[in-house]
Amino acid sequence: MSFAVFFVIILILVWVVALLYYGCSVPSSQLLGPALVRGTAGKGRVALTFDDGPTPPYTDQILDVLRKYGVTATFFVNGKQVDRYPDLLRRIQQEHHAIGNHTYHHIFLYLKTKGRMRQEIDRTQEAIERVTGLRPRIFRCPYGIRWFGLFSVLRERGMVAIQWSDTGFDWVKKNKPADIVQKTLKNLRDGSIILLHDGCGAKEPGEVDHSFTVEALPAIIENVHRKGLKFVSVHEFLSP
Ligand SMILES: [Zn+2]
Repeated sequence: MSFAVFFVIILILVWVVALLYYGCSVPSSQLLGPALVRGTAGKGRVALTFDDGPTPPYTDQILDVLRKYGVTATFFVNGKQVDRYPDLLRRIQQEHHAIGNHTYHHIFLYLKTKGRMRQEIDRTQEAIERVTGLRPRIFRCPYGIRWFGLFSVLRERGMVAIQWSDTGFDWVKKNKPADIVQKTLKNLRDGSIILLHDGCGAKEPGEVDHSFTVEALPAIIENVHRKGLKFVSVHEFLSP
């Protein structure tokens, strides 16, 4: 093999890997299928979303803050957490927040078959339905990672993928409440979908600490209100 041919093969491989990375891992990518990253601007709306719960005591603490400020949010729950803490999901529903599917075990979707993805999604839909009587229409991929076949599985179920445009990076240990507030608000604008967490990858109780998210939340809400924006559920961004 000549050096030129070898060079071209390497170049193609690098390009394929870069394209795969972009399509599967970059939150705003639409390469593998349509995902809502931000809502349409013009109505002064932002959506606050919490992933990986429900988890005691953080979900209750977050719900208390949301109630105090009269704010509606969206919770992308893991089926495993729903089976562990059905009462927390019941409270989310009773307080009129939106509920989405975030898989059962919070798995990476990389290299997963359609069968495995169906299993993760359906088991979570069933867990949520047992508690709330409803099957969510919205889905968020764990880690934001998409894989081939996911979008046809979602289509079969009439579900829509929701990503995010802004986050406080509240899963990064070194981020203190002030950092979470600053990062969340850095690029926030009309139509933003904010990602925060009330759990951590369906981990065992005691392995999760989201007290900084809870501490950051009042300042995030107050700043958003000061900008003249209001909080809506993700569903409001799906209807025209
Ligand atoms: Zn997650």
